[in-house]
Amino acid sequence: MDNSPRPPKQVLGFARAVRNRWRQSFVTSITLVALLGVAAFALLIGRIVETQIEDEAFERAKDSAQLAARAGFAPRLPPFGEPLSARDLTELDRQLASARERESAIDMRVWGRDGTIVYARDRGLIGRRSPPPSSVREALDGASATAVRGDVLQTAVPIVRRRGEPVAAALELSLPYGAVAADVRDRRRRLWLTLAVVGLLAYALAFPGLRRAGRALRAQYDPRRVELVRELRRALDRDELSVHFQPIAEAASGRVHTVEALVRWEHPRRGPVSPERFVAAVEGTDVMWPLTLRVFELTLEQCRRWRDAGVELRVAVNVSGAILPERRLPLEIAALLERSGVPADALEVEVTEGAVMADAAAAAGILRRLTEMGVGLIAIDDFGTGYSSLARLHELPLDTLKIDQSFVMRMAREGDDTIVRSIVELAHALGLSVIAEGVEDEETWAALVALGCDFVQGYALTRPLPGEEFSAWLAARVPSSA
Ligand code: C2E
Ligand code: MG
Ligand code: MG
Repeated sequence: MDNSPRPPKQVLGFARAVRNRWRQSFVTSITLVALLGVAAFALLIGRIVETQIEDEAFERAKDSAQLAARAGFAPRLPPFGEPLSARDLTELDRQLASARERESAIDMRVWGRDGTIVYARDRGLIGRRSPPPSSVREALDGASATAVRGDVLQTAVPIVRRRGEPVAAALELSLPYGAVAADVRDRRRRLWLTLAVVGLLAYALAFPGLRRAGRALRAQYDPRRVELVRELRRALDRDELSVHFQPIAEAASGRVHTVEALVRWEHPRRGPVSPERFVAAVEGTDVMWPLTLRVFELTLEQCRRWRDAGVELRVAVNVSGAILPERRLPLEIAALLERSGVPADALEVEVTEGAVMADAAAAAGILRRLTEMGVGLIAIDDFGTGYSSLARLHELPLDTLKIDQSFVMRMAREGDDTIVRSIVELAHALGLSVIAEGVEDEETWAALVALGCDFVQGYALTRPLPGEEFSAWLAARVPSSA
């Protein structure tokens, strides 16, 4: 016995519910993740652009300060604690005026090495010994520095000594920062706008694919479907599946030599479950494979019993396109044929149109292999409901097209035989025979004979029957045609 601790049932159930919920709201989740991704990207790029713009502005400010410094801001330092000479002050006024011709809002201060302001436009500041800002301190140590203070960009450059004479040590320029900040804001806005437009376009382009993927995922993880698949897996183990048989008759003579095998599932609680529901549910899951093999096995066993009783019937088995590209399919079929002792030419295969066309190359290879093994006929089931390319149809090793019952029924109900007539003509032009399925009454049968249809299948003959009942039906039947 396994005594290892297991997570409580409720926890597992909750985890499963969250996972299913996420899978079901795939499109919403992807959209949210994409939105978050774009926003994070925009923030990151915005930050980089902002830094770049600021760096550019700093460089520009430094350049103009250095230019100004080189232009001759080198006043003679006054004795400690005294202001600059009137001549130096006038000279600096003149230089500031000329700097303002280029940058009208520029302001300027000159700092002495002892940290006093020796020149300022506001002369009241001169001689003040307030602690200099960090950029000025750096300039006093010999390195240029730039910083934003409030809405002003300040840059300070060292003033070099000239021929060993003592000079004022740092020149500080202040520029209004408003224009740079506006530039940052403007570029950031444009960046967000561009990203929003590109993101929206990409989303619009990807949306149909996303929605398809979402639907497929939702269908696959639909709790009812998951439950059905689990139950079917159990049904296979418990041998709850059986096969019913429905005859296919020559349209003109009414003679029956082929029967189609149709799977049946008797659920112990819910009773019979429609194959249309559960076959669609297991499509694309690993249960399709054992289900198909089980139908082949049951069908060939029944075929063996008929043959032993002297009834030479051929059997047609439905193969889903999902497993048609399986390379082991021909081998498994060969093994089952051998075990049952039924000859390969007593077996036919029906494949649905959409399935064949989905992976035509792989499917064609497997179908060819089956033909080489001697398997009777290969028919396309439900023809007209898929997306066949006629060129591909010609490339497949087919013998028969089976017209989907919806077209036959429309013909019966509305008298509109356009599609049926066209398919019959197309099939004959391609050298294929035609089966009409869903033939429910004698009039439709007669109309199909008139259209040149080769075979008929439907309630007009009989509903699908269990093997033994089918033998009785066949024995009691006087072949008749419409
Ligand atoms: P299908 O292969 O096209 O089978 C024909 C379906 O139409 C059968 O439904 C049959 O009972 C029904 N039918 C036959 N004659 C008439 C008629 O005159 N009128 C009406 N209204 N219906 C008629 P069924 O048995 O419910 O099977 C439904 C589908 O499930 C099948 O369509 C086939 O695609 C799939 N299926 C059944 N058995 C298997 C199987 O063993 N393997 C796979 N892969 N699919 C299977
Ligand atoms: Mg079929
Ligand atoms: Mg069909």
